[in-house]
Amino acid sequence: MNNAGNTAGYDIDAVVVGAGFAGMAMVRKLRELDFTVRCFEHGSDVGGTWYWNRYPGARCDAPSMQYSYQFSEELQQDWHWTEIYAAQPEILSYAQHVADRFSIRDHITFNTSITQAHYDEKTACWEVETDAGESLRARFCIMATGNLSSRLKPNFEGLDDFAGSWYQTSNWPHEQVDFTGKRVGVVGTGSTGIQAIPVIAEQAKQLSVFQRTPQFSVPANNAPQDLEYEANIKADYANFRAQNYTKPLAMAIDVKRNPLKTFDVDEHERRERFEASWNQGGIAMQFTFRDSATTMEGNEALSDYLRDKIGEIVADPATAELLKPKHIFGCKRPCIDTDYFATYNRDNVTLVDCSAGIERITASGIQVDGVEHELDIIVFATGFDAITGTLNNIDIRGRRGLALKDKWADGPRAYLGLQSAGFPNLFTISGPGSPSVLTNMVPTIEQHVNWIGDCLAHLRDAALATIEARQDAEDPWVERVQALADSTLWGACDNWYTGGNVAGKARVFPIYVDWVSYREKCEEVVANGYEGFALG
Ligand code: NAP
Repeated sequence: MNNAGNTAGYDIDAVVVGAGFAGMAMVRKLRELDFTVRCFEHGSDVGGTWYWNRYPGARCDAPSMQYSYQFSEELQQDWHWTEIYAAQPEILSYAQHVADRFSIRDHITFNTSITQAHYDEKTACWEVETDAGESLRARFCIMATGNLSSRLKPNFEGLDDFAGSWYQTSNWPHEQVDFTGKRVGVVGTGSTGIQAIPVIAEQAKQLSVFQRTPQFSVPANNAPQDLEYEANIKADYANFRAQNYTKPLAMAIDVKRNPLKTFDVDEHERRERFEASWNQGGIAMQFTFRDSATTMEGNEALSDYLRDKIGEIVADPATAELLKPKHIFGCKRPCIDTDYFATYNRDNVTLVDCSAGIERITASGIQVDGVEHELDIIVFATGFDAITGTLNNIDIRGRRGLALKDKWADGPRAYLGLQSAGFPNLFTISGPGSPSVLTNMVPTIEQHVNWIGDCLAHLRDAALATIEARQDAEDPWVERVQALADSTLWGACDNWYTGGNVAGKARVFPIYVDWVSYREKCEEVVANGYEGFALG
């Protein structure tokens, strides 16, 4: 479909917002289907999360043989991942390689953000504007804006007075930051802080970690890629990928699925099984028993084991006690680390309890409980306005001028996480109401990309102009997402899944927690003629 100089009232078939893993795959898919596409990216290159989060220690915690594209057999055969869990520079160079290899950059305008997207009901077009002053009309608008892309600005009193330098992990400079001989403070002990702290500790003269809430973390046990394992997967990569799509989280987890519940075994065996998961590392821990992440008693047993581990690793009893989480496992996204707890045994590392809040930032450091901690550099790893943050920052208006952020004021509402009623021809990749961040992201991004691409091709073949989620499909879907979430323990404390980390944000758990039934539902919807969508 080439619409240059078209008479249909639009300039382009599709606008894609964002050139992370989702946006890149979407551009490639649309070009393969011969749609015209323009992608706009705020950053100066591709990579999304892996472009922005280039802090020391940044690393993926899904195995890279799986956290990678499958649309090209040649690509997945040619690329070699050097470690089980690739570090940020390797993932970014992979994204850059993909962009070059499939000529994706030709369709991307970098250093440019979409500021507004308004739906024109008369022409069934999206009128899109950029911060560079460009306007264009597209039939479809596809949001590939990411779930963790809207960083929370540090709004600590006195930050402007700080005489040293400060950085945010999610907006890390492209040049290396040298911590040698410096007194460094890290604020935040989520997945990001926990990755950065051990690496910064090795360089800094003194590191003070400001912890508001302690976190559960399990060792990654990262290692160089096992070449035999790689060869085995590459011998039938397509089948490996297909199998993974049928698994929870869309990921092969190298553990035997345990049919047992925590208290089906005696204390000795329970401990041995937890120990085996710990030694294996990574995400396996939460699958030690069938009920480890789902029942309160199973969860408590796992949580206690992990708290004991902290006590075993950290030499100073008071520091160990402070590092033990009080919440249940999984209600904050569990972290995966390399030497995190052992870092507190270093002479140059101090843990500062800021559970009562950071009082202020002064010219020379951070003040907590009346004590000033002198610093040359502060690193903020304080998180994101997740899932809806970036979408709500764009002025998106659907039918009758309805603003998406107004429709979503009490929490996002969408059908399958793909479309929201009242916003025809607008898609969200890994949007709210889809399994998104509770899965291995790259394969599940590709599932959405393929679904959307096939949908647009179907509309073209059937000479249809629009697709829109129906209200009577969206409402029960939102209820289903909530009901599934209520059957887990993940909404039990303040976390970014629910918006609990952002003051004033509506608390909703907008993630569909069962990937397998989700994928089946998406297929069923298509088989039933796009059931739940109005095609016009
Ligand atoms: P996060 O999990 O939201 O953690 C933010 C940290 O900052 C928390 O410890 C939080 O404390 C603290 N914080 C926020 N505001 C504060 C304040 N005013 N004073 C003191 N402390 C404050 O954010 P994140 O670590 O960037 O991780 C977000 C998500 O990104 C992860 O859960 C994960 O999904 C993803 N991620 C993935 C990887 C990977 O794949 N390897 C790596 C990094 C991140 P509270 O807990 O008290 O709010």
